[in-house]
Amino acid sequence: MSCSKLKYTNSARTIDEIPFGEASWHSFKVRYTGEVTHASPSWKRRTYEVHTRDAMTVLRNMLASPDFNGKWNHTPYEEYVRSDDGQRSRRYSNVMSGRWAWRQATKVAADPETHGSMLVPIILGADKTTVSVATGQQEFHPLYISTGLVTNEMRRAHREAVLPLAFLHIPHAPRESEDDPEFREFKKQLYHASIAHILDPVRPAMSNPVVVRCPDGHFRRAIFEIGPFIADYPEQVLLATIVQNWCPKCLARPEELDSKGAPRFRDQAQPFTDQFPRADIHELLSPDLLHQAVKGTFKDHLVEWVQQYVFANNAAKDAKAIMDDIDRKISAVPVFPGLRRFHEGRNFKQWTGDDSKALMKVFVPAIVGHVPDRMVQAIVAFLDFFYLARRSSHTTDSLAEMEATLVRFHEVREVFRDEGIRDDFRLPRQHALVHYVEGIKNFGSLTGLCSSITESKHIDAVKEPWRHSSKNNPLIEILVKNTRRHKMAAARVEFGERGMLHGDVLLGAKAEMGLAMPVEPEIGEGHDGGAVGDDDALLDVIGVAGKAKPLVVEMGKRPAYTRSIVTLAEEVGQPRLQELVRRFLFSQIYVDFEGDFETVPLGDCPPFSGAVSVFHNARATFYAPSEEAGPEGMHSELFRSTPAWYGQYERRDTVLVQNGSEDDVMRGMVVGRVMLLMQFTHEDVRYSCALVEWFLPVDDEPDPVTGMWIVKPEMVHGRRNVGVIHLDCMVRACHLIGLYGHKRLDKDFHFADSHVAFKGFYLNRYADYHSHECGP
Ligand SMILES: [Zn+2]
Repeated sequence: MSCSKLKYTNSARTIDEIPFGEASWHSFKVRYTGEVTHASPSWKRRTYEVHTRDAMTVLRNMLASPDFNGKWNHTPYEEYVRSDDGQRSRRYSNVMSGRWAWRQATKVAADPETHGSMLVPIILGADKTTVSVATGQQEFHPLYISTGLVTNEMRRAHREAVLPLAFLHIPHAPRESEDDPEFREFKKQLYHASIAHILDPVRPAMSNPVVVRCPDGHFRRAIFEIGPFIADYPEQVLLATIVQNWCPKCLARPEELDSKGAPRFRDQAQPFTDQFPRADIHELLSPDLLHQAVKGTFKDHLVEWVQQYVFANNAAKDAKAIMDDIDRKISAVPVFPGLRRFHEGRNFKQWTGDDSKALMKVFVPAIVGHVPDRMVQAIVAFLDFFYLARRSSHTTDSLAEMEATLVRFHEVREVFRDEGIRDDFRLPRQHALVHYVEGIKNFGSLTGLCSSITESKHIDAVKEPWRHSSKNNPLIEILVKNTRRHKMAAARVEFGERGMLHGDVLLGAKAEMGLAMPVEPEIGEGHDGGAVGDDDALLDVIGVAGKAKPLVVEMGKRPAYTRSIVTLAEEVGQPRLQELVRRFLFSQIYVDFEGDFETVPLGDCPPFSGAVSVFHNARATFYAPSEEAGPEGMHSELFRSTPAWYGQYERRDTVLVQNGSEDDVMRGMVVGRVMLLMQFTHEDVRYSCALVEWFLPVDDEPDPVTGMWIVKPEMVHGRRNVGVIHLDCMVRACHLIGLYGHKRLDKDFHFADSHVAFKGFYLNRYADYHSHECGP
């Protein structure tokens, strides 16, 4: 590498304040070594200090942690599932399930020096972060490290699976030098030289195997390798040493960013990966959902373009009124678990990634009628692509669906060109979507390598320690804090206090799901002849679209009140309640009866006039394949039916109820609005059931504009029809959004009235990832 103008000095000063051992922090200094005179700009005259710790020690400690036992893959693997139509399909999930790991391991196996060694991919992530105080802002540039061996779940959920490895120096120059090509070149060199130096301790182990301890307590010969790099676009520009507005992955010219270009070859400037065996930075830059899809394509592009369209086609005053209406419609959606409420509307100046993800869930119905249908379809196509892309595992089918959805998005986004909002789509972050399928095939699910992982790490590694620092020399204090935390975590594991990651409950739940799964995973051969069949990660239950039913639905802890059924019927204004409960009992007792319970003579139904306990909530527990629910994807949700939620307003959640076969309209499901959660005993058997209002699909196809099913309340004699169902019939909570139509929403509208105020509703496909993957 052309480091002629850089010189390192390993500082003698380690951070003495840290009393504990191995992975302690030290620093090294880098300075410009070209010609320097007293007239040279200040950036040439000063030295730059980089704080780091021994990369090899950090990696060894990480690998040795028993916390990851059962949650790692010691070899690349190919896993196959059989889809509904019997086709054998490769499944991509963890980093080691991807083609890249397999390919690299093949190279390692082919070399007599390294043959038979375990491949350890090093995952790096660099991400600038800013902390602000009254007196100004301070920037930090941490470099994080993880390994490709741990599962994606662990990398997302476990504090010690991603650790800060270094704090890079962010050089500043006086404003007149900021754009000086020489300074820009120096910044790039400083960056790459620093990372190369930080990784120096691992370099020997990239060519000659070393023995390491693994999470299972066994020792193995390991060969290390630079793996995927997590970075947002500005960081990718720096990493790939490319010019702004170009793609770091391919050679598509800026004006060709509509499609994929030829693979990218080297530029003159040399990235740090050149100094390490088998590493190519352009290949290793992994797709980044957070910055490319959420903050880029959705927030900065599509949402912004919709607003531009509204202002371009309406007088300023009307445009503002339309934007206000969109705001109000966004705020008018019913409550749903995990759904963020936009109280102050769409003031997106300060939006975080989480805000944008929340807006994705409710945006589409709010703009229908205000913009051309094709514009709605463009956003729908993008959302479908994104929801597919962020699944925690992929098969040939889901990847083919992603390809097709991206083609559809590219077709319908032309509406923005046709309407004069865009001249082109030369947008590197939006272009990056064309590399997603390839990225998944190479590195597994994108959720395992997203910059949301490094961003959330900032809180632990930078922001919290910074807040408690004296602000005098905060970086040193931050480093001390990080070391202590790391040591404490190591000690905790050592003492066997493993916390809640190894619960039998989860294993039991998985086993139960396993029994219910129609598709058995086929385990591919481990690499290099090694058997991998006993590896826990490979025994993961596979979520198949539509098959992930709740494991169990239970009433809340204690009833809100108990009444006789006659009194209850009067109190809640449901004159048919007793009749419906009797018909329900008939259905429960005569399980083989094949007719319509509604038409059974009431005299044939069991009599019931006893006491009923009413609950205000029930809990459903699922195995949710792509939910950000923490380890194992276990997900539990509470649904509510209460007249005064938090003492304020009525909340009656809606649920999907299985009513027919998978091949029927809406996959055999209908929507029930839970009006009462009831429990009672009949002949010594306790029944848990719900009184629901029925909402049925209006058509046998989803709405062509939004792609969502439209449902309407079933009406009988001018009233909403109701029924009583067993709690077990509930598939899961679902989210309905009013069919607003072209009418503006009243200024005083309250979201609690949504379920009764509209005649029709969208069955929201984007309410959460589960709705998209497993919903009708
Ligand atoms: Zn590209």
